[in-house]
Amino acid sequence: MYSDLLANLNPEQREAVTLPPSNPQGQSQSALILAGAGSGKTRVLTTRIAWLIQTGQVSPIGVLAVTFTNKAAKEMMVRLSAMLPINTRGMWIGTFHGLCNRLLRAHHKEAGLPSTFQILDTQDQLSAIKRLLKGLKVDDEKYPPKQLQYFIAHAKERGQRARELSVGDDFQAKMAQLYEAYDAQCQREGVVDFAELLLRSYELLKHSEAIRTHYQERFRHILIDEFQDTNALQYAWLKLLSGHDAGQINVSGAGSSAVFAVGDDDQSIYAFRGADVENMRLYENQYHPMMVKLEQNYRSHGHILDTANFLISNNTDRLGKNLRTDAGHGEPVRIYDAPSDHAEAAWLVDEIRALVNSGIKRTEIALLYRSNAQSRIIEHALFSAAIPYRVYGGLRFFERAEIKHALAYLRLLENPNDDTSFSRVVNFPTRGIGARSIESVQDAARDQQSSLYLAASTLEGKSGAALSGFVRLVDHMREATRHNTLPETVEFVIQNSGLIQHYLSEREGQDRVENLQELINAATAFIAEEGYGQDAAAAMLPGENAPGVVEVSPLAAFLSHASLEAGDNQAQAGQDAVQLMTVHSAKGLEFTAVFITGLEEGLFPHENSINEHNGLEEERRLMYVAITRAKERLYLSHTQSRMLHGQVRYNMPSRFLEELPADSLKWLTPKVKDARWGGSSGSSSRTGSTWQDGYTRQRDYESNDFFDSGSENRQPAKQIGRVGSASTTVKRMASPPRGQYPF
Ligand code: ATP
Ligand code: MG
Repeated sequence: MYSDLLANLNPEQREAVTLPPSNPQGQSQSALILAGAGSGKTRVLTTRIAWLIQTGQVSPIGVLAVTFTNKAAKEMMVRLSAMLPINTRGMWIGTFHGLCNRLLRAHHKEAGLPSTFQILDTQDQLSAIKRLLKGLKVDDEKYPPKQLQYFIAHAKERGQRARELSVGDDFQAKMAQLYEAYDAQCQREGVVDFAELLLRSYELLKHSEAIRTHYQERFRHILIDEFQDTNALQYAWLKLLSGHDAGQINVSGAGSSAVFAVGDDDQSIYAFRGADVENMRLYENQYHPMMVKLEQNYRSHGHILDTANFLISNNTDRLGKNLRTDAGHGEPVRIYDAPSDHAEAAWLVDEIRALVNSGIKRTEIALLYRSNAQSRIIEHALFSAAIPYRVYGGLRFFERAEIKHALAYLRLLENPNDDTSFSRVVNFPTRGIGARSIESVQDAARDQQSSLYLAASTLEGKSGAALSGFVRLVDHMREATRHNTLPETVEFVIQNSGLIQHYLSEREGQDRVENLQELINAATAFIAEEGYGQDAAAAMLPGENAPGVVEVSPLAAFLSHASLEAGDNQAQAGQDAVQLMTVHSAKGLEFTAVFITGLEEGLFPHENSINEHNGLEEERRLMYVAITRAKERLYLSHTQSRMLHGQVRYNMPSRFLEELPADSLKWLTPKVKDARWGGSSGSSSRTGSTWQDGYTRQRDYESNDFFDSGSENRQPAKQIGRVGSASTTVKRMASPPRGQYPF
């Protein structure tokens, strides 16, 4: 009975879940659930899907749901299967990237891609860009690869191809030209980067009426979590798919779909990556959604919630909503002022021990930091104290060198034209192919306009012999594994490529060998989870068919999974470990006890944000996200001195500590007096010189456990180039007004 589904909801949540998806005239009716942290948005969204299915308003194949991480998508499927007797496998629930990948795989021909196209993660993308610049003999001092990488991603996130960019000066014109050359290189090699997944599938839907109509008719219900962090292109994609795009309204007369968006403007924390909270206002104006606000918080005790509400009330640009809890005040928020980062870490260890002794599980304890670089000292202290811990967003399994090498071989089996993979392993393990040979094959490839792989088979002479040996090896592995299962293929490749032998002979290679073996297990688990093997078309649900859909091989599916999943935490099930992560990666999660460390001017709020109104407000939202992860215990700490990026910084306490309600706080050390900001925008100039390097700053903007690893190594939108390099490289790449977007 569907009333069971609704039994665990409060009246507002129930109202949200059961909003009519169409109006009395039979037209679709969209909804916006605007609510603060911990008010049950994600729970409402999941229950909405179950309710729609159970009441027969839609079948599982008619639902498309977008989550922020792969992990959240999986959780949603698990919850759904617990609520309904349905098989959720094959439902279209995933991140924007995951869903776009699926669309492109199914319609690769129409999208102009080879069936075996590979996904470049951010690291691969950077090597591809470096290779491009080298091939074109472009000065990478003048046009730094990372800046070009950012330029390309930024343009794609606004839906702009190189030709559509309006370039202000010679520098930008050159960047646009390189962007175009980069796209051409990717096309030739059959690879797509993360932003391309989205843009390409947007273009596919836009230009192919048959495909667009098919999916518009199919997905009558589109649900989106964390809506505040969608970017312009994602919003445009959504408009197209839901039949709300004025130019591309569903021609079959099926009408538009009902969109159900949930979000919290106070938790918009990805502006540096193009997310635009304005989308919420646009959505209100363009979809005229029914609105429900949820104001009851189920996560945090009173003092914690008061702290969050008090802090965020300092922001001016808000849509406005409140949060209350029935949970009682609970413990006060504890604040600790440490003399140094080592002392902060030692204090963390003591507090964690006390919490664990009081019965709190280690997985229920999170240590949050603004910037990845902070984790090292904390990790060291935990390690020395023998406290098990896990770092989210450290070097993840699929990003480890040995795994990337193995994946590169596997990619070459699928797509020999993938030059990034070719370059990665042509001489790894070493097989006597020197830099000279590689240069000559690159030249030949350029002359012949072919891939390195094809060029390698035509080269003559000594280098030709070595290279064709490599080509033969890959061809042999492809042939030999043609009828193998995926785990057999993986095993064959790591053995026959020489990778295992190579690491066995390395002094400290044992870990790497184990990781390679773990890759076989990952393949086995992937097959079991995705149901490949028993049912080759596992990604399809009964009744699912689209024009020209192509089946994806298990290897291709596994390789996409490796690229897309790289960003998600590889949780070690069952291990009771303390959780370490950046605040960005903590989004959507909750823990009994939360420590927010490094609350210092220049660190949190981050130096780059301090002089910008929007930047500071975004940092405050980030702090709001951090605080609202805590259920029962919240600890805030700052240090007077800290070693970061090789320099000691003397830090002022974060201004955010001054923005908290005194009644909810308990200072564990005497409160530091606040005669330090001089009432201005708070420049912590004593630390300024530490932050001069653009790339260092960029790493601090990194947030790892994003929906995929596409998040890394991007320069923030407000980055103005590499300070200290030639002045021509210093460019401000401001977003154009929305009207200039091509959609
Ligand atoms: P965030 O903004 O952080 O993403 P959210 O609004 O999505 O938070 P949820 O994660 O859905 O909130 O819910 C927060 C917590 O409250 C979860 O543990 C959830 O199970 C619990 N919860 C939500 N609604 C209820 C309810 N009606 N009764 C009891 N617990 C609830
Ligand atoms: Mg949520």
